[in-house]
Amino acid sequence: MNHNKGSFFHRLKHAAALAEAKAALFLENGEKVTYRMLFEAAGRYASVLRRLSVAKGDRVVVQVEKSAANLALYLGTLQCGGVYVPLNTAYTREEVAYFLSDADAAVFVCGDAVLALQSRFPKIRFMTLDRQGNGSIATLAEAADTDSAIEVITKTDLAAIVYTSGTTGRSKGAMLSHANLSSNADALIEAWGWQPDDVLLHALPVFHVHGLFIALHCALLTGTPMIWLPKFVAEQTLDRLKDATVLMGVPTFYTRLLAERELNRASVQHMRLFISGSAPLTPQTFAEFESRTGYRILERYGMSETIINTTNPLHGERVPGTVGFALPGVDVHIADQTGNPLPHGEVGMIEVRGPNVFSGYWRMQEKTRDEIRAAGWFITGDLGTQTADGRVSIVGRGKDLVISGGYNVYPKEIEEVLDTLPGIQESAVIGVPHPDFGEAVVAVLVSSGGEIRLEDLSVHLTERLAKFKEPKAVFCVPELPRNTMGKVQKNLLRDRFVDTFVS
Ligand code: AMP
Repeated sequence: MNHNKGSFFHRLKHAAALAEAKAALFLENGEKVTYRMLFEAAGRYASVLRRLSVAKGDRVVVQVEKSAANLALYLGTLQCGGVYVPLNTAYTREEVAYFLSDADAAVFVCGDAVLALQSRFPKIRFMTLDRQGNGSIATLAEAADTDSAIEVITKTDLAAIVYTSGTTGRSKGAMLSHANLSSNADALIEAWGWQPDDVLLHALPVFHVHGLFIALHCALLTGTPMIWLPKFVAEQTLDRLKDATVLMGVPTFYTRLLAERELNRASVQHMRLFISGSAPLTPQTFAEFESRTGYRILERYGMSETIINTTNPLHGERVPGTVGFALPGVDVHIADQTGNPLPHGEVGMIEVRGPNVFSGYWRMQEKTRDEIRAAGWFITGDLGTQTADGRVSIVGRGKDLVISGGYNVYPKEIEEVLDTLPGIQESAVIGVPHPDFGEAVVAVLVSSGGEIRLEDLSVHLTERLAKFKEPKAVFCVPELPRNTMGKVQKNLLRDRFVDTFVS
């Protein structure tokens, strides 16, 4: 196997071989999946995918509920050199149709709800997999012999395409190589001091880099177990924390845990580390969590295009409201619009360079050129500052992204849908603070006559948009505030509606 060091799967399999009889997953129903079982299952999925003619570089698009089988499918895809394309389970049929066609999928593994798309994509092999790990691909995998051949992978070969929501309404596929995944996993294991006796509580979804790469790879590459929960439920998570040492979550996990009366020092006494990311953790949540549990949450900063960029230190000061220092091997600077570094303390664009940075947007060369500078710096779209010793703080988002419950929502996409609905002249979608979701999507509408009610809009929006993108409140105004260039001044709208969900 030594000739194949470029394959990230090769490294994972090597780690699994050392951990063989150890538990990889503790499932919700009390069952245990050992490393040997998990990688044998991965080999069976690799065998099925090869039989379905998946060759190196072919896209395997997956929209399924989290399960142990889903994990084996991911690993099997890496093993046979396929490119794993995870999709949010909340995406509607029409949204999925866009991804299937854009990714030019070879195989689509999905739940029953989107099977109807099959007739529109006759060249794609449709397979099913449900939350219990049953379905047509599981049946084939159970009958297959486990395949031990690992596809030979070179430095630039892709492992995954992760779709981000597009500011122009069109989603972009961030192309991540085996080398991106491998280097970032090494940096995180080092930065977070992963221990041989760590147990990760994994309650994140696995269609996003946070749950799929960041959390998963730390455990798999060190042969340590995960408590594998299908989704985050505060009460259940609190109960299972007694068997864990590390929790990775979005800020909503922490606000919900704080709402549990039983959260106290005794309930988390076995824990080594609480990590938060994907959206800003408020200093209030940080402080409340510390006073209830004694733990200072470690906040880090990443994104689909680069996995993790910076982290607060494991040893040393974790400063609330900051995202810490660049990971080992990663460069971060704050730059002006032309890419020139700004003096320490000044607000500018956060740019990132290093082995974690993706190779570009799938079939969008122009967009790639716009966002990755010739010298390799990726323009993140986040605005921030950096101290002289390198500590980064995020102050805002240049790209207007709303992050609700850890999910990214790009206003433009919702505005485009709203603007097509009867009775609406124009719309502006903003994010406002929300005690549970971090931010909530709010639509500000100009009516073309008559009253517009959220209930009436919901009927149309539910068909067109994933639930997490639907506005949680709508307001009607006579006209939208605009600057002299005609751009809607969303900052004014945010100020006006900032108290919608918080006082
Ligand atoms: P995604 O591509 O879905 O991972 O979203 C990436 C975006 O999430 C980043 O560009 C940031 O705007 C935001 N983000 C991630 N981590 C943090 C954090 N710790 N604090 C503030 N924003 C964050």
